[in-house]
Amino acid sequence: MAAIAITATGFQIFSTRRTFSCSRTMLPSNMMMDTNLTRQVKLSSSSCVSLVKPFPWSFISAPPKDNNVVTRAMANENDSVQGLSIDLRGKRAFIAGVADDNGYGWAIAKALAAAGAEILVGTWVPALNIFETSLRRGKFDESRRLSNGSLMEIAKVYPLDAVFDSLDDVPEDVKANKRYSGSSNWTVKDVAESVKNDFGSIDILVHSLANGPEVTKPLLETSRKGYLAALSASSYSFISLLQHFLPIINPGGATISLTYIASERSIPGYGGGMSSAKAALESDTRVLAFEAGRKKQIRVNTISAGPLGSRAAKAIGFIEKMIEYSYANGPLQKELLADEVGAAAAFLASPLASAVTGSVVYVDNGLNTMGLATDSPSLSV
Ligand code: NAD
Repeated sequence: MAAIAITATGFQIFSTRRTFSCSRTMLPSNMMMDTNLTRQVKLSSSSCVSLVKPFPWSFISAPPKDNNVVTRAMANENDSVQGLSIDLRGKRAFIAGVADDNGYGWAIAKALAAAGAEILVGTWVPALNIFETSLRRGKFDESRRLSNGSLMEIAKVYPLDAVFDSLDDVPEDVKANKRYSGSSNWTVKDVAESVKNDFGSIDILVHSLANGPEVTKPLLETSRKGYLAALSASSYSFISLLQHFLPIINPGGATISLTYIASERSIPGYGGGMSSAKAALESDTRVLAFEAGRKKQIRVNTISAGPLGSRAAKAIGFIEKMIEYSYANGPLQKELLADEVGAAAAFLASPLASAVTGSVVYVDNGLNTMGLATDSPSLSV
């Protein structure tokens, strides 16, 4: 079974005049929706509108002249409901920024694989050796396991350093560095060419990487070099990847990057220009959505993810506290799983999201919506 099944959490109604949704409270008991996510919706009637109070149109504007609202639920008793599935069989994804099994890139790779996509990954050159060795030795076998019991296959791992567009950009000391000289073709241009030679094309491009050498410094103390390095590794790297991969992304393809709420709210501790880099990434998402959309019908979205104890996040130093804070103050008091970001990425990559582009999609247990830290001692009486 290669597809992730999403069963309905609600159902839609179609209207020739207005569209609105039936909620549990609007439905008689024989039409109550089963909220168990693993079960499918079966409705005993094909319409709900006649059973509910008319919507108070006057609240918004003048009531519609014509009350001939015809609605139809998506499912009725005669339908054999199959559920809605994310089916990425026949699609190929390149995920940049996978070097272990802890981060968002890995979880996204797994979700795309579970939906049937072929997986290629780009691994930062300095981390390549240990990643490939761990993969070969079966260290990741348990976390490679998909829900159907099979193991995620990675068709090919490409060495990548996303701060270099082509070999001309690479300084001599990096070329001479042992970790780099052991690999070849790891600039963005070279990787895109290698993928083209090996596989011809891709359908999904994921950017799950970031780096800010001065991330632990407040912005006020960040050097120009550190700031520009954060932007180069964490924002321009996405532009460069899209630029070089665009010719081989099939029309209708999708790209996804990962961002963080520090782009729009001040998060002390997320320094070194990383907040600026995420703000740039989000702005670029909108501009690139237009450009890639007009050029090749390619969608560009970014996921604003909540805190996760990945290797990169641990380098910042206070990720465990951020996770606790999120749990204490977010609307959904539960652990945020990397797999939840993976599932959202699979949705965004799929035809189900065919009209979603240029968006920042929050997958953070809702923390971004809060304006108050509910656990603040200032609130205690
Ligand atoms: P991670 O350590 O799994 O991923 C970061 C990856 O970037 C690593 O694999 C690293 O090797 C790679 N990388 C660094 N510099 C690179 C370069 N120059 N070229 C190629 N690869 C390079 O950590 P993660 O937290 O899962 O990060 C993935 C993305 O998610 C990042 O964009 C990060 O900012 C974002 N994000 C993370 C969190 C969090 O709390 N962990 C929250 C929101 C957004």
